[in-house]
Amino acid sequence: MSPLNLVPPPEPLLRAEHVTLEYRGERGIVRATEDVSFDVYRGDRFVLLGPSGCGKSTLLKAVGGFIAPQAGSLTLDGKAISRPGPDRIVVFQEFDQLPPWKTVRENVMFPLLANGVKRKEADQRARHWLGKVGLARFADAYPHTLSGGMKARVAIARALAMQPAILLMDEPFAALDALTRRTMQEELQALWDEIGFTMLFVTHSIEEALVVGNRILLLSPHPGRVRAELNSHQFSLASAGSSEFQQATQRIHGLLFGGQEQPGRVSEGVAHG
Ligand code: ADP
Ligand code: MG
Repeated sequence: MSPLNLVPPPEPLLRAEHVTLEYRGERGIVRATEDVSFDVYRGDRFVLLGPSGCGKSTLLKAVGGFIAPQAGSLTLDGKAISRPGPDRIVVFQEFDQLPPWKTVRENVMFPLLANGVKRKEADQRARHWLGKVGLARFADAYPHTLSGGMKARVAIARALAMQPAILLMDEPFAALDALTRRTMQEELQALWDEIGFTMLFVTHSIEEALVVGNRILLLSPHPGRVRAELNSHQFSLASAGSSEFQQATQRIHGLLFGGQEQPGRVSEGVAHG
């Protein structure tokens, strides 16, 4: 008989502790978030949900290493985040960031080459990831010939090809029409089922948060403070019409806009509230 081993609790991959973020400009100081704490574990689909202007993009920029907190700390794998790095790749809403003079494949290769991957391997990885998002046939097309959904797929392939420790997504589907948005949520879920990457996903849509996330952090209106944290792994696109889903949506709406700040952190399944 082997001895009984005690398994230590998993360490979070990304840890935000009491993070306050501010912009300083001519008009004075704008406080975007205040005292925000959360932990993201490997394999999480962690969603930051809150109304427009509550500091979601600012939080993502800080995790990306583009701006530094005024107070609190952000660590990835135990190390303080101090600058951007290939371990954190951001997918933005504006897919027209794809340089139009490069083909789809060259667009996916570009960050790989910029990070020292050899051309042959970059080419193979680009083809591989374009295949994963269903764009193998469009590898040599130019971005302007693609639909919005296809551009979103290129952006996702380009990000995953970098094999980041965490994928940061800032309302990546917000500019798409409702049907395409659903398709993209479905495809993202299928990719996650297959690969199991770690994702920090920002949205102001309650429905999207429930569909995409396994955990959701609710942020108050400007400046963003933590209202609650919820487990939402039981919801998916398939359950989007169910009464449980509707109840969860209403409950989150109440938590977000009810005005009543939670005294501590709520951590529970929203369906059983
Ligand atoms: P969200 O992504 O949740 O809509 P943002 O993070 O974009 O919110 O913005 C949070 C707050 O910070 C808002 O009040 C916004 O006006 C302000 N803000 C965002 N970017 C800047 C900036 N570059 N300079 C000054 N204020 C900013
Ligand atoms: Mg934003």
